[in-house]
Amino acid sequence: QNAVKRDYDYLFKLVLVGDSGVGKTCLLSQYRRGEFNYDTKHTIGVEFATKELQVQDKTIKCQIWDTAGQERYRAITKAYYRGAVAALLVYDITDRETFTNLKRWLSEVQSHADRDIKLMVVGNKSDMEDSRAVSPDEGRAFAEQHNLYFVEASALKGDAVSFAFESLVEKVFEHHV
Ligand code: GDP
Repeated sequence: QNAVKRDYDYLFKLVLVGDSGVGKTCLLSQYRRGEFNYDTKHTIGVEFATKELQVQDKTIKCQIWDTAGQERYRAITKAYYRGAVAALLVYDITDRETFTNLKRWLSEVQSHADRDIKLMVVGNKSDMEDSRAVSPDEGRAFAEQHNLYFVEASALKGDAVSFAFESLVEKVFEHHV
């Protein structure tokens, strides 16, 4: 067992949080683009997928966890956050309530995760400009106020999806390595 060579240098766990329907699962499947191994942790009812990427000369294996709908029942357990080095706090730019609820998600992450977890606020569904209910400035202001990164993305069109995951991974890398 010990003789088996690992095919990566670092393993990073990322978690997706935010209200049901904001597009967490779509962000993950857009990012995976066929390169993923999709897996389910039946024991705690979450799903995760892995993807390897290169940062400088290192191979980073990212394990990205999705809630699989458990947020509907507010049943996300501590195990979901344990060991996570980064989180994407997702809201829907067309649904103001999902933005208002970010405060709750932020405090949930902060109370369960490591203190130095890196956080990115993601305003998803940026393709739906006509139905926009939260301006980019509001999203950015929330992120700045809490010292978080910010991006608007579209899981549908793929805009800024890789950026959201990968710039966050780079921040973690800079911090830990
Ligand atoms: P989750 O509950 O947070 O995992 O949300 P889902 O990924 O299941 O997405 C909820 C709904 O929003 C689905 O009907 C998706 O097709 C839709 N959706 C997700 N992302 C986008 C997006 O970027 N743009 C648009 N227009 N619809 C999206």
